[in-house]
Amino acid sequence: MISELKLSELQSVMPAHLHGRDVVFNKVSTDSRSLSAGDLFVALQGDNFDGNQFAEQAVSSGACGLIVSQLQPGLDVPQLQVGNTEKALGWLGYLNRKQSRAIVVALTGSQGKTSVKEMTQRILSEEFSTHYTKGNLNNTVGAPLTLLAMDAHHERAVIELGANSAGEIAWTAMLTDPEVVLINNASETHLEGFGSLLGVVEAKGEIIDSAESTKVVVLNADDPSVEVWKTRAGQRTVVLFSIDESKAGAVDYLATQLECSGGESRFVLRGPEGLEISCLLPLPGSHNVANAVAAASLALSAGATARSVQLALSRMKAVKGRLSDVSGCGGCTLIDDSYNASPNSFRAAIDVLVSSADEKGKTSILIMGDMAEMGGEAELAHRRVGEYAKAAGVAEVWATGLLSKQAIDSFGHGGQWFESRQSLIDFAINSLDTNKVALVKGSRSAAMDTVVTALKTEG
Ligand code: ATP
Ligand code: MG
Repeated sequence: MISELKLSELQSVMPAHLHGRDVVFNKVSTDSRSLSAGDLFVALQGDNFDGNQFAEQAVSSGACGLIVSQLQPGLDVPQLQVGNTEKALGWLGYLNRKQSRAIVVALTGSQGKTSVKEMTQRILSEEFSTHYTKGNLNNTVGAPLTLLAMDAHHERAVIELGANSAGEIAWTAMLTDPEVVLINNASETHLEGFGSLLGVVEAKGEIIDSAESTKVVVLNADDPSVEVWKTRAGQRTVVLFSIDESKAGAVDYLATQLECSGGESRFVLRGPEGLEISCLLPLPGSHNVANAVAAASLALSAGATARSVQLALSRMKAVKGRLSDVSGCGGCTLIDDSYNASPNSFRAAIDVLVSSADEKGKTSILIMGDMAEMGGEAELAHRRVGEYAKAAGVAEVWATGLLSKQAIDSFGHGGQWFESRQSLIDFAINSLDTNKVALVKGSRSAAMDTVVTALKTEG
């Protein structure tokens, strides 16, 4: 935290009743097991747990005070009673962020948030002490915890914001109060929470106008929804980026002379006032170029130099489970994208599979599991993956999961469906060889990472 806060300060931003004396703290904990002496304990409540029950344990570990929704009798520390402890955690994050002199940037989108966040933080870290979201802590609990971890020495902060339903980004963006925001894209993910693509577009748009400090809005001109967000930006400065050369003159940052091969890309990033940066990005796929251009636009808008963009991008490494190459059984190449899946990211990954197989002169295999949280669109979305794979030139699709049956059906000749992950694994171990490149992908719930583990170790 930047400096100490008083428990009573929360009363200036939300209704809260202080039982006992006021207390100062400089660290907040939501987990009584990892709490250190002197921390403030916030008793979060979830579907399967109630933090109020751990208040006593927190006190015996040395908590200096508690934020609870139910007053805990017989405990000898001050307690701040609030209607909703998660909201209180949010406001604590806000109070800490408001004490910071850092330039804060925030980003959202359906895909690539963590990738863009990592690239942006690497670029800014070349010159500034930069705080950033760890891993994927982008929700209504993770974002406040990230804001609470901001220190006085930080000069920049890069905050990833995600959501499963409308209103979440409005809340976390308000707490983050970023000077610059970015929307990477919007697609049919988490449809169960948003209803429709329009719902997703609106929800991502919340990042634009929910905070008082937001002056600059960075948008992906290649996303079909860009006009909706531009209108929403109103008087704020809009910065557009694109990887489509036909948009030269119409955008602020443009990737030109793009060449993707051998799992890496080269391009020249052109920007305002004759800016030209020759970039090497050691990551596969044009979607990663789009992410890099997004990150560069965001970082440059927050004061980074061209040199930092060039250096940081050239040092990027693929993250495990996100289109990372692994050697597989029988000498095949596995492209591990088992981390997660959505229709958009399936298309991006299939493009990487096909170009990798073409370059190596090998046969392309898509090993797929189901995409989750697709709502009423689920079957159609899986059929489209099969159609896309066929049109892109994928040789075979091996799938498991009830929904993926639709993809096998639409893919037609060369598609095989398996009752279980194990039967797919058994088949793959016997079928993969040096002449094949296989992409493994599915939603987290499809656990396709277990397929990757089996295919790289049991071969
Ligand atoms: P989450 O919602 O889990 O936080 P995220 O938005 O942070 O996801 P990443 O973790 O960066 O996204 O990437 C997840 C996957 O999405 C990648 O493995 C890749 O397949 C795909 N992906 C990344 N960037 C893009 C993009 N710009 N367009 C389409 N697909 C992408
Ligand atoms: Mg993420």
